[in-house]
Amino acid sequence: MSTIAENIAKVRARIREAAQASQRDWTAIGLLAVSKTKPAKAVREAHVAGLRDFGENYLQEALGKQQELADLDLIWHFIGPIQSNKTKQIAEHFDWVHSVDRLKIAQRLSEQRPAHLPPLNICLQVNVSGEASKSGCTADELPALAQAVTQLPQLRLRGLMTIPEPTDDAHEQHRAFARLRELRDNLNLGLDSLSMGMSHDLEAAIAEGATWVRIGTALFGARDYGQTQN
Ligand SMILES: *Cc1c(COP(=O)(O)O)cnc(C)c1O
Repeated sequence: MSTIAENIAKVRARIREAAQASQRDWTAIGLLAVSKTKPAKAVREAHVAGLRDFGENYLQEALGKQQELADLDLIWHFIGPIQSNKTKQIAEHFDWVHSVDRLKIAQRLSEQRPAHLPPLNICLQVNVSGEASKSGCTADELPALAQAVTQLPQLRLRGLMTIPEPTDDAHEQHRAFARLRELRDNLNLGLDSLSMGMSHDLEAAIAEGATWVRIGTALFGARDYGQTQN
């Protein structure tokens, strides 16, 4: 087995165990492989080992990989901060966007989503830790934003996403993820997705209801940011 295949087996085992511990069906938890800064070859290897969903943060890097991997049937998720001048290509080249945190970006994505493609799946990114510097809308802004996004014809609002302040304190991890679940439930929009949990905290996220865990390091190893461009 390749290292990536071994890592996938380990992450899957962690997901299954965490699901069992909270009496959840592990097949309801999607493994989103975060391939940012990693070469197309790593994505190809992960696909051979059974993964289909890949998450990218940097548009130009993602477009290059998509071209190299056009022979594969992959599902691409955009998970990074979105500038207005990037929305057209994101709308054209991705299946999901997890990082929408303001209406202007949502409107542009809807307008620019090509008519021949199905509506773009959207998660709204929420800042549950209250840090001023982080991306994500606030809990106060969320209801109006969610309501408005449901009205956009070429988007399909699926749920919420968060990147909590990193912490090793399991109690804090649970609290942040439980908060996202409550926010989702309080919206009462029938949203099926919670995108939460990364390499170091996927267990807490699954216990609190994650439907996507976004895993980079545990699958592909540590990242080297030297080559990255937006
Ligand atoms: C990089 C990244 C991840 C993956 O993080 P790891 O700790 O490497 O698993 C998940 N989500 C987002 C939004 C990211 O930018």
